[in-house]
Amino acid sequence: AEPLLEIKGLQTHFETDSGRVPAVDGVDIYIRKGEVLGIVGESGCGKSVMSLSVMRLVPSPPGRIVNGAIQYKGEDLVHVSEKRMQQIRGNEIAMIFQEPMTSLNPVFTNGNQISETVRLHRSLNRKEAKLHAIEMLRKVGIPRPEAIVDEYPHQLSGGMRQRVMIAMAMACDPELLIADEPTTALDVTIQAQILDLMKQLNRDLGTAIMMITHDLGVVAEMCDRIVVMYAGKIVEEGSTRAILKNPQHPYTRGLIQSVPRMDVAQDKLYSIPGNVPNPRFMPEGCRFAPRCEHAMDRCHTEMPALVTLDAGHQSRCWLHDL
Ligand code: SF4
Ligand code: MG
Repeated sequence: AEPLLEIKGLQTHFETDSGRVPAVDGVDIYIRKGEVLGIVGESGCGKSVMSLSVMRLVPSPPGRIVNGAIQYKGEDLVHVSEKRMQQIRGNEIAMIFQEPMTSLNPVFTNGNQISETVRLHRSLNRKEAKLHAIEMLRKVGIPRPEAIVDEYPHQLSGGMRQRVMIAMAMACDPELLIADEPTTALDVTIQAQILDLMKQLNRDLGTAIMMITHDLGVVAEMCDRIVVMYAGKIVEEGSTRAILKNPQHPYTRGLIQSVPRMDVAQDKLYSIPGNVPNPRFMPEGCRFAPRCEHAMDRCHTEMPALVTLDAGHQSRCWLHDL
């Protein structure tokens, strides 16, 4: 099937006093209708900037999409007018973030948060909009929606607030939901409930979901496919099964090792040594080389290409050349 959204050669840069920072550096990503795609990497790998680029919400200046295309149903979102983008945002493509309080307006009732979005895109009167809000609150599993609709976000728990966020995002029945670390701020039990809810919405409504997270554990259960990003580039991509059972890139292997496991006693959780490079001082060659235990001479001078290992499974590493 034709992709719902196709990102081609995306480069999003930030201009700073000390030069140009390539936060997203030539990325190709597609997502099919109704698919759940995971975008995984540590913080600072360009995942959020990539998703903000899709929404055309990169703060500009200093950020700017300098190259590439974002094809959505025959339109290139990089080049459509801001007016057109406003019609797409919320209605066709919606986004939720890690911390609901930064996206929810504290002076609006829960119902009004939802109605605001809907009334931007649909001609509903006040009463219809409120009924729709109650319906959405019910859909996302909020108990007593008729009462909660008139309450305020700060009266809710973190998990319930995230549900209101999701209700708001889903209110116009978008084709694509971009979720940036939607459960990171929540405790483990609530996190599982929110992931279940998102899975259920994907199944029931057919909404495609782009799930952005640093936690491979989160995407393991949910996603059909996984894209692993490192330092502004894709380093591995494949079906969830291929990525988890047969990871090929040393970075992906490190991420898998860092996921806490219930079935093995662990004194100390593994973490990949070192840090994500500052994009202002990007390493020559493979960007993962300074942290990679397999690094060879050529890794420090030449950037490997993304190569196809199996149908739909690609990885960017000189080890595949040996
Ligand atoms: Fe490690 Fe070299 Fe592969 Fe980079 S190219 S991940 S440094 S082995
Ligand atoms: Mg982020």
